[in-house]
Amino acid sequence: MMRGGDARHKRGLLIVLSGPSGVGKDSIINALIEDDPSLFHSISTTTREPRKGEIEGVSYHFITKNAFSALIDAGDMLEYDLYCDEYYGTPKSLINEKTERGIDVLLDLTVKGALILKENDPNAVLIFLIAPSKEALRARLLARGTEEPELIEQRLKTAERELGYIESFDFLVINDEVQNAVSDVKAIMRAEKRRVARLFVDESESYSV
Ligand code: 5GP
Repeated sequence: MMRGGDARHKRGLLIVLSGPSGVGKDSIINALIEDDPSLFHSISTTTREPRKGEIEGVSYHFITKNAFSALIDAGDMLEYDLYCDEYYGTPKSLINEKTERGIDVLLDLTVKGALILKENDPNAVLIFLIAPSKEALRARLLARGTEEPELIEQRLKTAERELGYIESFDFLVINDEVQNAVSDVKAIMRAEKRRVARLFVDESESYSV
């Protein structure tokens, strides 16, 4: 690790947003990046079919299940999860490259994926996003219109299971209004950067008493 003077090295934060499908993770991530374009939103790899309007390499990397298995076997996934019968995962090399360069990375993960990531990297910051109510979540999924009704029910059932893991997260944010949730996430990021443990690792040689 580089230390001291201008070469002082600060690792970027890994900020994980998790929570039920339809809770508004994308809107929050887009607003955060609009405010601070230096943030990096990781592009995940998935085996699910692209939705209308989704672009390869922008929304996701869309690959086959065989190709996904090969990435797992090669140890190229930082974490992955099987969600509603499809695989989703985070490519390891790109994320490490960004955080090593001091860039803060935003990840949008299933609850299980977030917990696996935290096991691998205890410095990752896990934020659980919830909708103001189950009805609000159903209404958002219906309004989005990207899933068939039975898939919406499957996602709502998964959401209920996921809620059981809130206590393993570092922070809880309610997405009533996007701007409120965005300012909560920004406050969490600011506080995380001032954690003594992070400062001590990165800056201890610069301070004297
Ligand atoms: P969707 O099909 O709606 O795009 O995503 C379904 C779920 O997969 C969402 O909860 C989303 O947060 C999650 N997801 C997206 N990318 C990843 C990833 O790389 N890893 C994991 N574990 N979950 C992901």
